[in-house]
Amino acid sequence: MEIKGSVVVEGIAAGFIRFFNQDYEKRIQGYVKESPEREKERFEKARQGAASDLNNLLKDREKLSESEGEILEAHQLLAEDMSLKETIVNYIEQGEAAPDGVLKAVSDFKAMFDDIDDEYLRERQKDIIDVGNRFLRKLLGMKEFSLEGDNIVLWAKDIEPSLMASLSEKQVKAILLESGSKTSHAVILAKAKGFVTMVGVSLSPEEISEGENVIVDANQGVIHFNPSEKEMEHCLALVKEQEEQKKFLEERAKLPARTKDGKSVTVAANISGAGDMEKAIALGCEGVGLFRTEFLFMDRDKLPTEEEQFLAYKGVTEQAAGNLCIIRTLDIGGDKPCKALSLTAEENPFLGFRAIRICLNQKEMFKTQLRAILRAGAYGKVGIMIPMVSSLWEILETKKLVEEVKGEMDAEKISYGKEVPLGIMVETPAASIMAPVFAKHVDFFSIGTNDLVQYTLAVDRGNQSVSYLYDYFNPAVLHSIHRIVTRAHEAGIWAGMCGEMAGDKLALPFLLALGIDELSMSPSQAPGVKEQIRNMDSGVCLDEILSLKDAGEVREYLRGLL
Ligand code: PEP
Ligand code: MG
Repeated sequence: MEIKGSVVVEGIAAGFIRFFNQDYEKRIQGYVKESPEREKERFEKARQGAASDLNNLLKDREKLSESEGEILEAHQLLAEDMSLKETIVNYIEQGEAAPDGVLKAVSDFKAMFDDIDDEYLRERQKDIIDVGNRFLRKLLGMKEFSLEGDNIVLWAKDIEPSLMASLSEKQVKAILLESGSKTSHAVILAKAKGFVTMVGVSLSPEEISEGENVIVDANQGVIHFNPSEKEMEHCLALVKEQEEQKKFLEERAKLPARTKDGKSVTVAANISGAGDMEKAIALGCEGVGLFRTEFLFMDRDKLPTEEEQFLAYKGVTEQAAGNLCIIRTLDIGGDKPCKALSLTAEENPFLGFRAIRICLNQKEMFKTQLRAILRAGAYGKVGIMIPMVSSLWEILETKKLVEEVKGEMDAEKISYGKEVPLGIMVETPAASIMAPVFAKHVDFFSIGTNDLVQYTLAVDRGNQSVSYLYDYFNPAVLHSIHRIVTRAHEAGIWAGMCGEMAGDKLALPFLLALGIDELSMSPSQAPGVKEQIRNMDSGVCLDEILSLKDAGEVREYLRGLL
């Protein structure tokens, strides 16, 4: 039997299918209710048990990735949250059994998020369900999910982020999810762990039994159940090849990315915190092309202080050991909420109050971040990058603020980097069209294809129903990128790319022919991209690519070059 799904993390894996479905309903039916006082005690014991499990998981904070740690911390806060606790206790006092009190309270909290037209915020409902389920498991005497054995292909309708965080890379080979968008916490964690991952996979445990052999081919987007011996053999050979190739690439990861005809490209890392740097350096990234600083601001009630930000930026800068670290100023809004700023919900958040628009409206907050970045500049090479720029005014205002904070720090005798370059993300059609003008006022461009595609093609980057139109190989996007790089070079500044396209090997012939100066990507992609660059020439085919009429033709042409 074969099933299709949407690929999130490419690769091929073979193993045994395990289902993650915890049957709370049956257990709740068998739960014997006692007096409200006793139910309250049972709930409190369960809550404390869940909180202590989370504390234990967080004890080895340094073993967790940045995102794993952040999610578990959010759950820890929820497990201690007074209003969640009081709502559950209220239900128990009204006569509900403790598990029903938990379910009702979780459903009330969930309902508060239902009407929010924001995918990211809706995903946060899952954190509440996740914590509620932890309470339930304790109340119902269920063990925390644990996996035994190796070569596991785990299927779930949906998976709690904290459970994903606890899965071991040694045991689990692939993750198949029925639901889960590319921005869901669980999927972010699966990517960070490097699991071969597909979403949109509907399975019926009645048709497939636990433990059956399965091949997940996330290169082709197909899952094969009960493969023949021959198919299995073939797949295992591919897995072995994939592992050997990974090892080979990792051993060569620190070699420079220079084409056969001698053109060098900087391959840098996209990171969301200092915790990502060790992996980035080990995998050959030459500095940071995009530090998404918003992760320091999200999931918390108060904005980070200057000192807190300074320490984070300094940590990254020092680890980069002389390479440039581009620190992007706060890119909140759109699909990234920030509790501490209490932003109002918007009809069109991606076209609304976002990124630099918020920063120029909240100048004290912006100045705090600029000071922290400039101070980190005293410890290494740092760059400031402004997101979502659509007008020259935004660049000039930011530069004014940079000068203002420098003046303040001079007066306060605080040391900071005197030569910190300032660049912009080119991710709006306005910035692409105005590239020759903007280039005269900044030190570099970095093309943010994730947004440039959505704004150029009028296709929401998070909307599944129009995802077939979301394509950076659409010639409209390629012409825009061509314009941006060419105009940057004419103005004498460098141009890089930090959107997802930068890590796509198929895009390399086009990007190198353009003369792109830097490519910034998820560190796990860097070894493969660097090797590909070393095996190619830079000066091929630009006119031909730009004469193609649709994304299909472009892909076909580029495939022919690899
Ligand atoms: C982009 O838009 O391409 C980008 C890198 O930024 P983000 O994905 O954070 O919007
Ligand atoms: Mg962007």
